[in-house]
Amino acid sequence: MDKKFSGKPASSDVVEEIKNRLDIVDTVSEHVLLKKSGRNYWGCCPFHKEKTPSFSVNPEKGIYKCFGCGEGGDAISFLMKINNTSFWETMTALAQKFGLELPQAGVSKESTDLKNRIVEVNEAAVRFYKKQLLENPEAKQARDYLEKRGIGRDVIEEFNLGFAPDSYDALIKHLSAAKNDYELLFKAGLTSEKTGGGYVDRFRNRIMIPIQNDKGDFIAFGARALSDSQQPKYLNSPDTPVFNKSRSLFALYQAKEAIREQDSVILMEGYFDVISAHVHGIKNVVAMLGTALTEQHVKIIARYTDSRKIYLAFDSDEAGIAATNRGAEVIRSAFTGLGEIRNFDESFVDAASKNDRTVCEIRVITTKTGKDPDEFLRTEGAEAYRKLIENAPLLIDYSINRIINENEQEKKNLTPQEKADIISEIIPLLAEIHNSIIRDEYVRHIADRIGINEESLRTEVNKSLRNVTTHQKKKKISLTVANRHQQYVLAQKNLLSLYFIHTEKFPPLCINRYLKGLTFEETNLETIRRVIEDIIEEVTSSDELFQKLMSRLSDNEEAKKVLTDLIYCAEDKKDLNAFAIEQFVKDHINFLKMYELSEAHNKLRNEYYENDKDDESSLLHQQKVRELIRQRQLGNS
Ligand SMILES: [Zn+2]
Repeated sequence: MDKKFSGKPASSDVVEEIKNRLDIVDTVSEHVLLKKSGRNYWGCCPFHKEKTPSFSVNPEKGIYKCFGCGEGGDAISFLMKINNTSFWETMTALAQKFGLELPQAGVSKESTDLKNRIVEVNEAAVRFYKKQLLENPEAKQARDYLEKRGIGRDVIEEFNLGFAPDSYDALIKHLSAAKNDYELLFKAGLTSEKTGGGYVDRFRNRIMIPIQNDKGDFIAFGARALSDSQQPKYLNSPDTPVFNKSRSLFALYQAKEAIREQDSVILMEGYFDVISAHVHGIKNVVAMLGTALTEQHVKIIARYTDSRKIYLAFDSDEAGIAATNRGAEVIRSAFTGLGEIRNFDESFVDAASKNDRTVCEIRVITTKTGKDPDEFLRTEGAEAYRKLIENAPLLIDYSINRIINENEQEKKNLTPQEKADIISEIIPLLAEIHNSIIRDEYVRHIADRIGINEESLRTEVNKSLRNVTTHQKKKKISLTVANRHQQYVLAQKNLLSLYFIHTEKFPPLCINRYLKGLTFEETNLETIRRVIEDIIEEVTSSDELFQKLMSRLSDNEEAKKVLTDLIYCAEDKKDLNAFAIEQFVKDHINFLKMYELSEAHNKLRNEYYENDKDDESSLLHQQKVRELIRQRQLGNS
């Protein structure tokens, strides 16, 4: 090993060493076909779908930036993003690759130790349970159960299924023979506390289903009861330092490649639904762990599917329908804030191909017969299920069908009141369709299905649309405000980017004369500015400034991304002379000041209108407003 790293190296040394050894072009080339053009390399972005390259790699600075989706950073950021790993996970992997020893930092050593030990003891438990399933005569019932479900040896191996004997201490005895650590077993959720003190095996007489994280670590167990008298039917590990059920998905480890390849994911309810799907060659399937779908689940899924095509394949009973509706709501709310969710009209297909990050597509898989996926797969086969996936309706079609069918089943001829009820349920759904042609198509179709006048349905939908439209108008206004604010942030970026003009004439210290004393409202820019202030005296070139900043911000991905922006932002300012720079700074600072003044003005004006207009307060406001206007005029002159 490198001499420098014998003994106890500071983690930052190793991080630096790793960064020095990482070549951005090599790193990216493993995933992207790059072509040199000018000083930079170009390729198609791996983070969004595109046909013409807008992904640029700058080998001098060791950074990349996508002009399509805005991703950017250094080689570490690239690896984190492409592998879905944290900073320290990435560093650990790289340290291994380069044969370096990375002291743990960023995470407390103790908590990492405990986590590692829990994963280790879980692994030992997985081996124990599996051996029991395969060899223990008592496991016959478990083996029969699995066989009946079509689960053979290969599946037992793939999912590491096992059997927990009907005993209070089989696991404890086995594991503590090797390690005398009762507390660890308890912390791992493998045992429960006895009332009189001491511990007992948590899982008894159950089929054991290990739960892995996306890296394959064993983090918990699901366990199915073997006798009818056992409650609950499914028992899961409690939350532990390595396991949180609202953030974990069953079979993600086995499914993630397929999810990526097919750019879609199927969510099911039960462990055996998922296992059965995998057995039948349908691999892009995961399940929640006995909890409802959470936003965290959705975010995890979104990492693996760009177009965010999510199939909900819950049971067809009341509970399943409720879970479908709730799940759909969670998915939509997880994506709100990213923009409109256009899961209804045909245009989403287009938009998805352009990698609109605001799109998600929710489809619902239902079996007409009311069978759960496992049952359906075993009786009807994989091909039949694939057909269901292929023909899975969009959420809106599913919802409309359900509203109409519910009523149809009871009576063939609907009463006027029933029709009115159906319509009032359906109208809000229709009002969400943006494309008027498609909306009209739905109106015609639905009117025909329930036997009402098409025109009167259209009138009702339009009424409701008017309400929606006023809503959207309000949204538009806030959008223009956002754009103005974006300009404001851009102006701040432009100013800060001056530090990175790469010329002899303008070393950072020289630029500092123009920018000294400025502060920025945007958090990342301000973070960067503060670090610059800190190190400006010790750097001689913009390159050095950049490298130092990168290492100071090494675990702040957001700030690094903004820093990458600044480098590209500086490109078009290289030809400015001193006079032009001075003018540029003046104009931009002036713009910032104007913006801030007009914001203050708006705020005051709003306060004025909202206030009770008693003479005194309104007078005070008028004075303040006048002062602001004066300042703005001064600024313009
Ligand atoms: Zn991109």
